[in-house]
Amino acid sequence: MERITGIGFDLDHTLAIDNTLERVAFERLLEAVLAQGGRTCGTLTDELDAIDELLRHQRRGDFSVDDAVRRFVSTHGVTPEQRHVAAFRETALGLIDDLVIPLPNVRSTLEALGERGIAMAVLTNGWNPMQVRKARRAGFAGPVLVSSEIGVQKPAAAAFETLLRTLGSAPERSCYVGDDPHGDVAGAHAAGMRAIWVDWEHKTFPSEVAPPDMTVHQFDELLGIVGAPVGAT
Ligand SMILES: [Mg+2]
Repeated sequence: MERITGIGFDLDHTLAIDNTLERVAFERLLEAVLAQGGRTCGTLTDELDAIDELLRHQRRGDFSVDDAVRRFVSTHGVTPEQRHVAAFRETALGLIDDLVIPLPNVRSTLEALGERGIAMAVLTNGWNPMQVRKARRAGFAGPVLVSSEIGVQKPAAAAFETLLRTLGSAPERSCYVGDDPHGDVAGAHAAGMRAIWVDWEHKTFPSEVAPPDMTVHQFDELLGIVGAPVGAT
């Protein structure tokens, strides 16, 4: 691989897992809304399925996380108020320390890449300050570009172009590292970047997406393929 001068990282399932943190925050919100006289929407299984569906839409960019909270509260027969949004955010942020776990070797690999002088940034779909705090919890100290703030979501090429400007690195000398074939690999390719697929769960790469330039199963494999020191094998 041509010498790489900049690397962008996906956050969730690439640098860290969050153990369904936002789902748990919605479960707590459900508890609060029911205590407030709200009505249930089916069985608990139905409720959990509805939370997952709501989060799927929110992550796809159909609406903001604050709107997701308002929709959820309203669905349970309670008039949504700002305090519901504030409570959800506070709950979710409070869960980070307990639920966010960096993937193995992430911290040491990031440190080693930084020592090689490679520019690094995180590009992630989500909301702040949640994503920045998750990135810090994962051991990433650099710039964190979050869709709610840059106004565009992966896989849009504009998101990756914002990343390239932050990295100060040409597309052909930059790579993006992520676990999502559509959002990460296809998105990076559309912006002219190399794509490294993180496949620690040993999944099958979908046939309808152009394959990644490289695949790693463990995060520290990056050290062997990106900006290895001169003379290294
Ligand atoms: Mg991901």
